[in-house]
Order: sequence, then C-alpha cells, then structure tokens
Amino acid sequence: MQVNAIDAQSIAVFDPHAPAGAAHSCSLQLSSSTPLDLQPPVSPYQSKAAAITILQAKSPALRPGFNKDTIQLDVAANGAVLNIPVDVPAGAVWMNAEIESANGADVDLYVRGLSQFNDDNGPQFRSEGTTGSERIAVTQAATPGLSPGTWYLGVQNFASEATSVTLNVEIFDTRVPPLELVFDYNDPNCDDNSAWNDPTPFTPEGGNDATTLGQARRNAFEHALNLLGEEIRSPIPIPIQMCWADLGDGSDGDSVTLGSAGPTRILTNSPGVDVANTWYTAGAALSKAGTDYCRLFPSTACGTPMLNARFNAQYDDSNSSFYYGLEPSSLINRRTDFIALVMHEMAHGLGFLGLIDLDNGALLAGNDGVGRMDIYTLNVIEKQGAFLDRDFTALADMSDAERANAVISGDLRWIGPRTVYRDENANLDPDSQFDANAFPLNTPQLYSPSEVEGGSSFSHFDNQDRWGIMTPTAGFGPGQRTLGLAKYLLADVGWSESPSRIRGGLYFDPAQDGHGFDLYRPGDSNSLIFYTYDEAGRPTWELAVGQPSNRQLQANLQDFSNTGSLEAVQPNGSPNGAEVRLFQADYRGDEVCPTDDVVRDSSGPLYVLDIVNPDESARSSLERYCVQPFAVDAALSEVDFTGSWFDANEPGWGLSVQTLTSNGASVVVAVAYYYDAEGNPRWAIGQAPFEGAGLTTDIVMREAAGYLRGQTPVAIEFVEAGSIALTLNERAASEGAGIASIDLQYQGSEGGVFQRNNVPIQLVP
Ligand SMILES: [Zn+2]
Repeated sequence: MQVNAIDAQSIAVFDPHAPAGAAHSCSLQLSSSTPLDLQPPVSPYQSKAAAITILQAKSPALRPGFNKDTIQLDVAANGAVLNIPVDVPAGAVWMNAEIESANGADVDLYVRGLSQFNDDNGPQFRSEGTTGSERIAVTQAATPGLSPGTWYLGVQNFASEATSVTLNVEIFDTRVPPLELVFDYNDPNCDDNSAWNDPTPFTPEGGNDATTLGQARRNAFEHALNLLGEEIRSPIPIPIQMCWADLGDGSDGDSVTLGSAGPTRILTNSPGVDVANTWYTAGAALSKAGTDYCRLFPSTACGTPMLNARFNAQYDDSNSSFYYGLEPSSLINRRTDFIALVMHEMAHGLGFLGLIDLDNGALLAGNDGVGRMDIYTLNVIEKQGAFLDRDFTALADMSDAERANAVISGDLRWIGPRTVYRDENANLDPDSQFDANAFPLNTPQLYSPSEVEGGSSFSHFDNQDRWGIMTPTAGFGPGQRTLGLAKYLLADVGWSESPSRIRGGLYFDPAQDGHGFDLYRPGDSNSLIFYTYDEAGRPTWELAVGQPSNRQLQANLQDFSNTGSLEAVQPNGSPNGAEVRLFQADYRGDEVCPTDDVVRDSSGPLYVLDIVNPDESARSSLERYCVQPFAVDAALSEVDFTGSWFDANEPGWGLSVQTLTSNGASVVVAVAYYYDAEGNPRWAIGQAPFEGAGLTTDIVMREAAGYLRGQTPVAIEFVEAGSIALTLNERAASEGAGIASIDLQYQGSEGGVFQRNNVPIQLVP
C-alpha cells in the first residue's frame, strides 16, 4: 500500500508513566515498500458518434422540486446513450445518479455539467467499475460544483449485446450526509483485532454501558465516528481499516505509541478535485469524485480501505489507561480519552498531513517518478514579515532545500481560505496577538520546531490550546472531542460542503456603492470584470484573468478598449500596474470584513478584493472591497439563468445576467459590458420582471455616474441609456441558449450607440 502513516507515537498526555502535558509525537512515514499506484485512471469512455443515442428531449420527470426519478434506457451493444438531460433547479445542494443494468452487463456512468457530451467534451465525473452497477454523486464542493442548469448524464454499454439500464437520479436540497466510515471489527487483514472482542469484564462508565472491554471499545469507537460525522460530510461512504496492535507498553517510562493512522491511497487528477497535479488523500478525493475507488480504478477490489489506523492493545492491557466513557465529564486526569484520540488520528488519515519529505523538502513522487505538490502543503506559507505587506512565501514556490529549511526555521501558517482564525471556531480563545479583523493575518500557525520531530513537525497546529485537538500536545481531555479549527483545515484539503472554487456571479460592496465585480470562469481560468468609474465618473470596467485556484485569484487588472472592431480589442496594459487579489473571506457566509462596520448579510460566499500596485507592498497601497453576492441563495429563482453570457461570434462584449425572486416575483437583472464610440469600455445595468424561459424580456438599461475607485463614495446617479431584449432559452454553454438585442445610447462620444439585433448568446461555462 501507499501508506503515509502518521504513527501517533506517544500521544500520552495522560500517560501514567509520563508527566501530564508531555508532548506526543506523530511520525509521518512515507513508505516506499510497495510501488505507488497513483496515476489518474485512464478513462475507457469513448465518444462513439455512430453508436450514440442522443436524447434531445428534456428528461420527462426531473423538474424543479427536488424529487427523484427513474427512467429505463435501452443501450445498444457496445453503444452509449449520452446527453440525458437533468434539470438541476436553483437551491440544489447535491445530486446522486445510479445505474443498474438488467443482465449485469458492464455499463459505465458519466456526468457533465451545463454543456453536452461531444467529441471534445468528455465526462467530468465517471463511474467505471467492472459491474453493471455504477454511481456518481455531484456536490457543490466538487469541480465543477453542482449548479443550476442542465446537466447531462451518459451511459455506456461495454457488452456485446444490448442491455436495459435503470437510471435513478435524485436531487437534494439538503446537506450532504455525515461522513460514513465503513469497517469490519473482524477484518482478517488486521494483525490483531482481538481487542475488539476482548471478553474482559468492563465496568460501565461515562455512559458507556458495555460489560466487556471489547464492546466498550466498539461503543467508544463508534461514538467517535459519529462525532466526526457531525463535522465532516461526504456523499459516499469511505471504507477504512481499524486494527489493534502491540505498539509497546511504554515500560521505558518515557512514552508510548497509542495509535497510528494514515491514508492508504492518495490521488491526483481524479474527477471533481479543484487543484490539478496535486495529491489528495483518497477519502477527500473520492468525496469530490462522488464515487468509489473501485469505480475509478476497476482493478481494485471494492471495499479496499482508504485509511487505516491501529490502536495500542498492549498499552491498554497493561495500563487500562484508555477512557472509554461516552460522556467526557467522567474523564479524569492521567487517562487518555480514546474518543479524542480516535478523532485526532482519523483527522490525520483524512488529510491533516503534509506529504513532503521533511528531511529534504522533496515533493512526493508517484509511479512516474515525478514529484507533485500535495493539497496540504499547497496551503502552507512561510511568514516572513507583515502579512498585509504580503511578505510571505508559499512552500509551493520554494525549492526543496528552501522547504526543508522552512520546516525547521520558519513561521509556517495555514492560509487555506476556510481556516480563518475566528473565535467562533470551537475551543478557540481569541488571543491578542491575532488581529481578528485582519484577514489574512488571522491564520493559524503550524508546528515547526527547530529540529524535525518525526511526525509532529509540519502536520499539526502549533502547540497552543486555541488551535484545538490537532496540536502535538493535544490534551485528549474533556472538551477535546471536536475537531475545532481542524474541521476547517480539512475542508481546505477536500472535505468541504460548499463550492470549493471561487463562485461565479455578480458581487457588490455595500460600503462602496456602485462598485463590484462580475466573476466568471471561462474555460479553466478565473476571470472577473471589475465595474467602476473613470476620472470623470463615467462607468468603465476592467478585466482580470488569472490562473485557476481554489483559494484566490491573483492577476493583473487590465483596461480594455475597442478601437474599431471588437475582434481587435487590445489590452492597454494596466495603467497603474494594478493587480487584483481576491481572497475568499469566509465560506460560511458570515459577516466579516476587515475594513468597515457594514454588515454583510449573505448566504453566499464573501470575498475580499484587494487592488494593489505590485511595486508597492505597503498596506496603504491597497484598495480594499468586501463583496457579497448580488442575490442571496434564498432569492435565487427556480428557473435560474444567472451567469455571464456572450456571443461566441463576437467575443469582447457581453451580458451578466442574474435571475432572482423578489417579493414572490421573478426578476432579471442584466449588466451590459460594451464600448463607446471611442472604444472606451462602458457598462449599463437594468432590471425587469422576468417573463420566463423562452420568452422575451425587455429591460430598460441605465448608466451610472459614480466615482473613481479608491475615492470617497458619493451617491450614484443613473440616466437612462436604452434597452435590451433578452430571450433566454436554456442555461447552457451552447449556441442557441439565448438571443439578445441591444440598443444602448452611451455616454462619452456624442451620439454614440451600441446596437446588436437578435444575436445568439450563450453562457460562459
Ligand atoms: Zn498527531
């Protein structure tokens, strides 16, 4: 196996042989005893144009309303049925699709979001086991995340005879279920699992009413997994292996290994993950792929554990030191809380571990010998100076030697976007050394002693109680039965429920009226249009296009002009060398902003947008916007056409559309991005009652007169600027999805107009 075991050696804070409060060390061991089978699966999916039955009709039963539906498909021998449409309504949280062939024929299942399968567009999700049973669950946290619009399923038959396939699809508006970890107390692959069956009489304590030690251990273990499931969620169960072993009895009077845990597989480039060429622990990767390991890697037996752990039977036999009570209140000093220990170790196994070689800083190599970054290390920076001066270096940007040095000498911080330190996080006591109002200053420190401590270094929070259970000296005492900040760190390494990437849509800053951005992702990059005003207060927009990242967008801010033809749009360069840096401030949608007291009441993601001069790192050079979605989730309309739309025949201008429900009525808001007669970028905004899909909605557009970005806000004044007629047929990235007519009379050059008549528009995917 590719065990990256964290051996939780001597986690004996309450070890009777050791003084209370002694550090435990976990050793991170990368075993190369077996080859790493870590390559992405090669999809047998084939786009068989001749054999494909394309269902053009909408699925007959899947309509908004979060129901489920079953349809029967006849799939030809070695044929496929592709582009089975599923209407995903606004408010959908996750979708589960399953197929079963009538005769056990080997069939596979594929999913694509918002655009159809064709020769160029293969599956984004796949379930390719060797049986006639497949399943895929798509969550909002996957990439692409489940979003409203038309999704497409595909079923391929690998048998040489036709088969009938039952397809079940269910869409949920409820949370993804608690993480279910599947295991066998009598797993024959354990060296020793007798401890799960130990008949030694047990005196019930702390709410654990078992009468044998084996049963007491089971009760406590299952209680720990239930507690984990309250904090970590997954659309699919994850098989694990739980064993006991003789890990020593601590008779040297110093320390003892209490347990160990680690992932048994790590994956890169599997479906649904947001960062390419980066290792994820198998459990996290599979929760995004929405299917089982054996359905991604058909040569692997189903049920193969993705994580294993061992607990020290010898320690328990000789000391009776594990506390198995379900109620923490009965836990007394000098005993080790088994439940907290399980949670600590499981967190390592789920992804709370870095995979770099701590001795030399090298990245973990796969079968091909190529070292790759892992999602944990990717989120770690070495802080060198003031955060707001951006004076830090990501470990991902270091050489091996620099990484090795940073691990023993640096101030390492976790900067995953979900792990902002806040006092709301369980067990965490606000501390004056952290400025709760300074994102990203409020980032937790990782444990990095001046000499590598085998396994403790790097893969724990620093030794401070406020970071919770995942510190090297975790107390495992009362109050430790929660992941605390580690819950958010685990979300950063894949165990998230919410969209893992920057979410598209219209955003605005309520404290700087009239400014905001339209965020979208053409192809594989994040892009935003920043809508603002020029020196004269006239509306203008700027564009930033950056590389994809689940954490932030960092890109030059560019000013576009249209000199004659739209095809000839040329960037003027960035007038101030401005750079945009967009951070997700708080994925939970709480109110947080570093710069003002304006309440951001939003059910969607909040972002901090900094515009900086890259030549000046001083804080004073920042322009900062705290932005929230134009429409909160609750206001999203059932028929959702929200997104950026453009004419594929004439890229360079476009429309940002937001459909929402206001006072029970359906409303469409549109922002047109276009040019005046001198080629200056302009924008106009309008809203109107939405006539509905396939019908034409006329929208009176208005131009805003505002104030140069970075200046003191003034009241925005609007003037009418023409109209657009919008016909939106389908929320899809394909020709014919919509039609637009534009008739805008813009400011700037006298008499200028921007007109288009019945041009096709489509969603930017
Ligand atoms: Zn540990």
